[in-house]
Amino acid sequence: DPAEPPRVVLITGAASGIGRATAQLYSERGYRVVALDLDEAGLDKLTADAAADAFVVGDAADPAANEAAVGLAVSRFGRLDAAVLNAGIGGAGPLESDGALERFDRVLAVNVRGVAAGIRAAVPALRAAGGGAIVATSSVSGLRGDPGTWAYNATKAAIINLVRGLAVDYATQDIRINAIAPGGTLTALTAGQVAHPVLGPEIAARIPAQRWADPREQAEAIWFLTSPAASYITGVVLPVDGGLSAN
Ligand code: NAD
Repeated sequence: DPAEPPRVVLITGAASGIGRATAQLYSERGYRVVALDLDEAGLDKLTADAAADAFVVGDAADPAANEAAVGLAVSRFGRLDAAVLNAGIGGAGPLESDGALERFDRVLAVNVRGVAAGIRAAVPALRAAGGGAIVATSSVSGLRGDPGTWAYNATKAAIINLVRGLAVDYATQDIRINAIAPGGTLTALTAGQVAHPVLGPEIAARIPAQRWADPREQAEAIWFLTSPAASYITGVVLPVDGGLSAN
């Protein structure tokens, strides 16, 4: 409807991978996209490619960066309708390795505190818009004990119950909060595994669909969860994994 103002989405971790594909998809479908990422060059490229309209260079773990991004959405585009809290980092190395627990603190800060900070920053603006939807990026690693990534697994599991609890808390305010749990997806995060001569094919063979996901397939699931088609869905974790978690 041309009389309606464009909808506005905040996407964290938008400079690469799943976040980038999501920014692209929302832009194509008429949203104004506000991006938050640490990677300034990546954000410049994202806007040059018309996949984002504005951005904040900052740390998703930092509440002030999330508030700045929401503030930018409201000041520049007048509203916020959705937030995709997708920024995330990998594991902390073997449990007994030097500095493992210090690295775990950082993985927790980005992957879990970052989602809480993003929800906290977004909800007042979503409320002001008359309601809205939030999607956090968990992982199949939050549903199972994937080998070698204990810290990452822990944070991705934490996102799932964070989302459930807050979905319950905000259900009467027309703010829906869900998560996706991607399986192996072709991004910078997994490039090393994909290219590995033994691991790459081994991982693909374990996936019932026998292939990795394209980031666009994750973006479509996020789109669905923020769309009116999902108006009665809140507090769920949607695996987007070619059947991996069903197996
Ligand atoms: P990616 O590395 O391609 O992109 C991640 C983006 O997040 C990058 O642009 C990076 O700069 C940004 N980022 C990292 N830390 C940040 C921080 N502290 N503040 C702001 N931005 C930050 O990775 P991806 O595969 O697209 O991962 C996106 C999300 O999907 C992550 O939460 C990841 O855990 C999750 N995930 C990925 C897979 C996969 O197979 N690729 C599977 C399951 C879940």
